Amino acid sequence: MNADAIIIGAGACGLMCAVQAGYLGKKVILLERNEKPGAKILISGGGRCNYTNQFASAEQFISNNPHFIKSSFTQFTVDDTISFFETYGISGKEKTLGQLFPDDKNAKDVVEVFTSICADLGQEIRCNADVKDIEILDRGFKITYDKNGKNVILTAEKLVIATGGLPIAKMGATDFALRFARKNGLKIVETAPALVPLTITGKDEEWFAQLSGNSVLCEVSNDDISFEENILFTHWGLSGPAILQISSFWKRGEVVNINLLPNYNITQLLDEERKLNGKTLLSTLLNRFYTKKFTDALGKFLPVNKPVASLTKVEIDSIAQTIHQFKVKPAGDKGYDKAEVMRGGINTNEISSKTLECKKIPNLFFGGECLDVTGWLGGYNFQWAWSSGFVIAQNL
Ligand SMILES: Cc1cc2nc3c(=O)[nH]c(=O)nc-3n(C[C@H](O)[C@H](O)[C@H](O)COP(=O)(O)OP(=O)(O)OC[C@H]3O[C@@H](n4cnc5c(N)ncnc54)[C@H](O)[C@@H]3O)c2cc1C
Repeated sequence: MNADAIIIGAGACGLMCAVQAGYLGKKVILLERNEKPGAKILISGGGRCNYTNQFASAEQFISNNPHFIKSSFTQFTVDDTISFFETYGISGKEKTLGQLFPDDKNAKDVVEVFTSICADLGQEIRCNADVKDIEILDRGFKITYDKNGKNVILTAEKLVIATGGLPIAKMGATDFALRFARKNGLKIVETAPALVPLTITGKDEEWFAQLSGNSVLCEVSNDDISFEENILFTHWGLSGPAILQISSFWKRGEVVNINLLPNYNITQLLDEERKLNGKTLLSTLLNRFYTKKFTDALGKFLPVNKPVASLTKVEIDSIAQTIHQFKVKPAGDKGYDKAEVMRGGINTNEISSKTLECKKIPNLFFGGECLDVTGWLGGYNFQWAWSSGFVIAQNL
């Protein structure tokens, strides 16, 4: 046996697992197909890494079993994440909605925390090691990986699969975990891109494209959930945090509702303005909330050049409908190349929630994004990766 355990994938979960195992005196070898570890950490949060969320709990996750992550989140809490990084000189600064970023550091420093601890503890990270096959032995596992065109074989008694989800193949993402799971009869919850921009095609395409670059604070909702954050118009559709959030809950063919003026009631605003100055144009009123470009674009649907006093009841109702219940039917999403995470994954029923060990294959552990655990936007996905990495390390 080459080590106490082998971890496949030196991403967020695998790195945390290696470090925590090292603290417990367990020797692991990390196998990573990229040239360097932590590729997604490096690009996360625009290079700043939103590494946790102060409010993270099971409520901000999508999974067939919403209770599954609770044990991991109790074993390694948000406070544990914060203290872990503080110990290594990274203190958190809240940007918005509980999202913590390194105060005066960035994503590179986050990865360096892990690589330096691994070096100190003698945990080996082997890069350019593309794992091709796992053989389940009577006792342990035989792992075959490709290193510069040559097959290398390792064996270990315990194995961790932390190969992440499908988004962004050029950053190293593979379907390795899903393929292995299928081959070994483990159930999979259907996967789809999540936290992903949505596309608009057809007759509405031009209207959205003209607004490319405009960002508007909105409440975006479907029948199940709503998010109040910015939406960003692009030349192919919609992006921005509120759209990424709803995309995880959106299914093809569904309409997304957008309240373009949350926290206000346009009917009331028109009423008040009529009393103050009936000559005010609707466009003047809307420009108090939107860019001129956006108000002009709303002219397609609204009588923006009319004085508020001359608006009829029917027009006011239609304005309220457009402003507060703007309906969009996206054509699709931008796919795994632009998604931040994968929805679905290995069914959590196959895994012990306490140890993250596979119920059918003893001594095999799964953590991070390859499982059917998908967090909202805002540092939740890293918290899951850290917590699951910690839990697995305790059981190696
Ligand atoms: C653009 C972008 C920005 C993001 N920003 C944030 C953010 O700010 N906050 C947040 O919480 N989440 C963010 N996320 C999501 C977050 O990065 C992931 O949820 C998290 O990295 C998952 O951790 P993981 O360890 O499961 O997988 P990963 O971090 O993806 O690591 C898996 C590793 O396994 C390797 N691998 C795959 N197959 C093999 C194989 N066969 N052999 C060897 N190695 C293999 C991969 O190369 C990869 O390095 C972002 C994602 C993206 C794409």
